[in-house]
Amino acid sequence: MKHLMMSFVLMFGLTQITMSQTSHLHCGELLTMENDRVQKEMTIVVENGDIVEVIKGYTDPNDTIKIYDLTDQFVMPGFMDMHVHIEHESNPNRYLNRFKDNEADIALDAVKYCRRTLMAGFTTVRDLGGTGVNVSLRNAIADGSIIGPRIYTAEKSLATTGGHADPTNGMKKDLMGNPGPAEGVINSPEEARQAVRQRYKNGADCIKITATGGVLSVAKDGQGPQFTVNEVAAVVEAANDYGYVTAAHAHGAEGMKRAVLGGIHSIEHGTMMTQEVMDLMIERGTYYVPTISAGKFVAEKAATPGYYPTIIVPKALAIGPKIQETFSKAHKYGVKIAFGTDAGVSPHGDNALEFGFMTEVGMSNFDALKTATVNAADLMNISEEVGTITEGKSADIIAMPSNPLDDISVTSDVIFVMKDGVVYQN
Ligand SMILES: [Zn+2]
Repeated sequence: MKHLMMSFVLMFGLTQITMSQTSHLHCGELLTMENDRVQKEMTIVVENGDIVEVIKGYTDPNDTIKIYDLTDQFVMPGFMDMHVHIEHESNPNRYLNRFKDNEADIALDAVKYCRRTLMAGFTTVRDLGGTGVNVSLRNAIADGSIIGPRIYTAEKSLATTGGHADPTNGMKKDLMGNPGPAEGVINSPEEARQAVRQRYKNGADCIKITATGGVLSVAKDGQGPQFTVNEVAAVVEAANDYGYVTAAHAHGAEGMKRAVLGGIHSIEHGTMMTQEVMDLMIERGTYYVPTISAGKFVAEKAATPGYYPTIIVPKALAIGPKIQETFSKAHKYGVKIAFGTDAGVSPHGDNALEFGFMTEVGMSNFDALKTATVNAADLMNISEEVGTITEGKSADIIAMPSNPLDDISVTSDVIFVMKDGVVYQN
């Protein structure tokens, strides 16, 4: 068994896991994200995967301590992306692959996406829907078999019949069958509860619903509401029993409104968000996860003939370009925002581009960094474990060559990644 573990480590080139060792990170500049102050010449002490101390100045080396020299680097907490699809990545064969790929094919491809995401400095992601392979990926990462971010997964998204996450959309009739709660398709509050409980049984960490139509499903409508308030409320009620945070994909305002009234914790994309919806979100403390990256990517690819099926092109062109504008309005209006890209729709590993898309329409660099650390942790109720560099939290720490408060584009140049006290890139 020991030999097997060892060969896994060699096969995947894992940095040797030495959890018990004490590491000292010498940081030229440090932004803990507890506030917006950049501290110079600091040491972070890491033990057993946790941050145990943050000290002014640099500590002296000795035999029992591993020193990481980041004296010419800018150090901050690992980034968190609240909307990825870790199993897949966009390509023109995506729709054909649904009929061709076995779970093993999906898993083997996803190993690359997991690695790329972590190396880009994203130490935690929320996976908002796939086939169920995402649960196995989460487990494999957690036990050190493969390299990737800490994953909180929704397993399979929930939809109503023909809705954005109905897995048989666009198929010929004899293949459609009649998927139900086990497959994530619900048509009543009763079935909504059953579908949530099935996700619990399947090993999900959170719940995602598709409250309106979507861009990339093989269906005509991208914006109309697809859940009743009662169905959303039943999802949220059942989810709360398991301590699950709930997310609603939504493009049109009526679907968003119903989702917020039903008690959902975050609105994803939020393309046609109205002032009424924003008022409701502020009143109820609902987060907005914009995914500007996905909007830009689908609008760009829709211009390439044959990249998407014909039914998708007009939706991508209508919805894609609007998200950034909506984000700008919602931010100015005071809606709480957490970072999310929809990576999988856009390429994995390019997640940090979202920071630039947020700051170019009016968000400060610090606030943008906050969406991917403090706010994301708050949305997922994991602020006691991650989100800032604070004594007692997990040692999820990244470094880049210069200060992102001066130039946000450096967030795409992460050169040091530690997750749970283990260094994956140095
Ligand atoms: Zn998505």
